[in-house]
Amino acid sequence: MSEYYCSRCRFELGYSRELPSVALLESNYHKVKHQKHTVLSTAERLQSIFTDPSTSAIRRDLEEALLHGPMEIDDKGRINFYATSTGITGHRYEWGTLVQSQDMTKVVLSTSATLRHAFPESSFRLGAATCAKCGQSIFKGSTATLTSTGE
Ligand SMILES: [Zn+2]
Repeated sequence: MSEYYCSRCRFELGYSRELPSVALLESNYHKVKHQKHTVLSTAERLQSIFTDPSTSAIRRDLEEALLHGPMEIDDKGRINFYATSTGITGHRYEWGTLVQSQDMTKVVLSTSATLRHAFPESSFRLGAATCAKCGQSIFKGSTATLTSTGE
C-alpha cells in the first residue's frame, strides 16, 4: 500500500526536490516516455495521454508537483509527487479506447533526474487517500469523470 503525505507534511519531513536543470527531453529515455504519454497507441494496454503535449506544459506540471505537490511513497519505497491544481491534464486509454479523464499530473521516480518523468493521473483513483502524518484528505477525489470520445 502506498502512503500519502500532504504538501505541508512532506516538507516538514524533509522531502524537498530540486527542479530539473536541463531540457525535459534531454535523453532518449525521456523522449520515449514523452511519446508514450502524448501519442495514442492501440497496442498499449494502458496509456495516459497529456491533453497538451508541449514540453513547456508538462514541465509546468512537473515543477508544480516537485515544488508544491503532495507526495506518495509507494509499496516499493519509490517517491512520487502530484500536481493537483492544473485541471484536466489528460485522458486514460486502454487499448486505444478512452476510459477516463485525468485531473492531476504524477511525477514518478523522483529521486533520479535521469529516470524521473510525468504522466496524467486521476484523483478519483486516489480519492480516499489521506495524509499519513496529519490525516487531512489530499486529493480532489470524484472530480474526474468519463468524457465523451468525440472530442
Ligand atoms: Zn499532512
